[in-house]
Amino acid sequence: MDCIFCQIVAGKVPTEILYQDEEVIAFRDINPQAPTHLIIIPKRHIPSLAHLSEKADSSLIGHMVNVANQLAQKEGILESGYRLAINCGEWGGQLVPHLHMHLLGGRRLSGKLG
Ligand code: 5GP
Ligand code: ZN
Repeated sequence: MDCIFCQIVAGKVPTEILYQDEEVIAFRDINPQAPTHLIIIPKRHIPSLAHLSEKADSSLIGHMVNVANQLAQKEGILESGYRLAINCGEWGGQLVPHLHMHLLGGRRLSGKLG
């Protein structure tokens, strides 16, 4: 198991877990791009968005968005605004091959997406 996010799920890399339930966990990005920069991941190893199955995973992304919204409230950025981003594949800027959602906020974010 050489996936860094699977190692975090397994408790093998000391990481403060901000939220967890049966399906997902959330923690702070190690290299934050904004005052709030959280990562929300499924506990199960899914390599990327492109590997989601309509049958098995139909509710997963919706659940991750709900968790992100709860965390945005906890971080105090619900009113000021925030961005959720999921990079997919090499050209989509995905570096860690375990599906994850970024929650960014706490400052005015650039209008650029790509
Ligand atoms: P990606 O470019 O794949 O969408 O984003 C991966 C993110 O994971 C990066 O923002 C990076 O800083 C973060 N990251 C990589 N390794 C670790 C780690 O070991 N711990 C934490 N907390 N974040 C990590
Ligand atoms: Zn993994």
